[in-house]
Amino acid sequence: MTASSLLPNFIAGRWQTGTGAGTPMFDPVLGTELARASSAGIDLAEGFAFAREQGGAALRALSYGQRAALLTQITEVLQANRDAYYEIATANSGTVAKDSGVDIDGAIFTLGYYAKQGAALGDAKLLLDGQRIRMAKDPAFQTQHIQVPTRGVALFINAFNFPSWGLWEKAAPALLSGVPVIIKPATATAWLTQRMVKDVVDAGILPVGALSVICGSSAGLMDQLQAFDVVSFTGSAETGKIIRSHRAVTELSVRCNIEADSLNSALLSPAATADSEAFKLLVAEVAREMTVKSGQKCTAIRRVFVPRALYKAAAEAIGARLAKTTVGNPRNETVRMGALVSQEQKTSVLAGLAQLKTEATVLFDGSAAGLVDADASSACVAPVLLGTESPMSAKVLHAVEVFGPVSTLMPYDSIDEAYAMIRRGEGSLVCSVYSEDPAFTAQASVELASSHGRVHAISPDVAALHSGHGNVMPMSLHGGPGRAGGGEELGGLRALNFYHRRTAVQGSSLALDVLAAQGSQLAL
Ligand code: NAP
Repeated sequence: MTASSLLPNFIAGRWQTGTGAGTPMFDPVLGTELARASSAGIDLAEGFAFAREQGGAALRALSYGQRAALLTQITEVLQANRDAYYEIATANSGTVAKDSGVDIDGAIFTLGYYAKQGAALGDAKLLLDGQRIRMAKDPAFQTQHIQVPTRGVALFINAFNFPSWGLWEKAAPALLSGVPVIIKPATATAWLTQRMVKDVVDAGILPVGALSVICGSSAGLMDQLQAFDVVSFTGSAETGKIIRSHRAVTELSVRCNIEADSLNSALLSPAATADSEAFKLLVAEVAREMTVKSGQKCTAIRRVFVPRALYKAAAEAIGARLAKTTVGNPRNETVRMGALVSQEQKTSVLAGLAQLKTEATVLFDGSAAGLVDADASSACVAPVLLGTESPMSAKVLHAVEVFGPVSTLMPYDSIDEAYAMIRRGEGSLVCSVYSEDPAFTAQASVELASSHGRVHAISPDVAALHSGHGNVMPMSLHGGPGRAGGGEELGGLRALNFYHRRTAVQGSSLALDVLAAQGSQLAL
């Protein structure tokens, strides 16, 4: 990729370069321009029709097992080109290698997981949903729910923070389902997504039309959607609102999944003490979550709830951990945390921080340590731990998501007060609970379940095993109610639901026998 050239789009089965100057992508640390994105002049109607008709038909002609084998081949191509992806991530996302791995290796792991799950579905062409149910006295007439792939395209509109994982965590279940994918990455970090699609296309793995990429403006994409298409959006609540209110969704009932922002919490048990394991586990996880990918994870811990007696101890312990986080140029091996993805994000994080500071004080500010190998003008922002001793009267702290290395510590006086404050996030992706008492953990999980897509419950016995508060694993659900968008992704084979239509077939047991022979039981 030579600097400043336009990234070609792959649509309608061919590479097409948009017109005009395009929108530039930058190295957030060095400020250099890397590439440009433009979708201007692309015939979107042709591209969507091509994917729907050619890509869809070719994918549906395969069994789940055959499509799973394609996912395996994709993982092999991505593995082979891994080094190039890490270089792109360093340059375009400003991430240290470990953080690039969350995006790149997280994608490969997720694809591998769905390849295995899909292989188990074998040569089936449809899914059997539940068991047959008698509808008459005579068992000859029964109903069987089946699921078949929708005959449309899956449009993905993605956020800037996961250009790799964000594509493949959606594409793996879609392609396994037999539904062609059109991905529109966020412009700021589109390069990695485009490069991965290019490698997979060049390898000739997928039927033509099964995977398309459009970089640049989102203008006109939603207008292309038809009744059996689906759209999966990840990004801000504001853009989510635009997607949800588009005619395709409101009038054509295009199925729509929204993953939006979230004020995720961490909760320390009321029984914890400053020298307890639960306390140490919370401290370590909060510091980790604040700094992994510079806090640019939709699942990152934004609010930390501890018993009031532990407020000061928690502030000190988290601050001490954060003090070890060197911030700066990800190419320097001593650097633990790189940059935010862009100058726009830096502006937005600093503005959000100022807003939070109207209700909170600074308990730790990493900026005093200075940046390593990076100018103050870069998009690097050091971690900041805020705190308030009156969280019940706070408003902004429970409402504003600062998408960076920022978290707010809040004391609670009773566990019911803690639950009430956590729920003031109005629906979040994940809450983690730190306790040594299984009974409390179970009780907290039930209390928090209705307002969260995931409860990450940590105790000393799983300290060395757990997958992390913010890591989204393919076997567990990702998404959250309310403000988090109301969406659901992953969760093992549950993810296939979004790309299938469920139909009740009512008929003779003889016909249902034939169906059963073509299908695989959807075991969740
Ligand atoms: P964003 O500004 O809403 O952009 C998201 C995507 O929407 C981008 O691809 C963007 O394209 C596109 N877009 C912008 N305007 C559009 C429109 N009018 N119609 C259709 N598409 C449009 O969000 P972001 O700043 O990239 O992402 C940060 C947010 O995403 C945070 O709030 C974070 O919490 C959330 N997030 C959530 C999850 C989750 O799984 N729940 C995961 C990651 C991030 P351009 O880039 O070209 O503008």
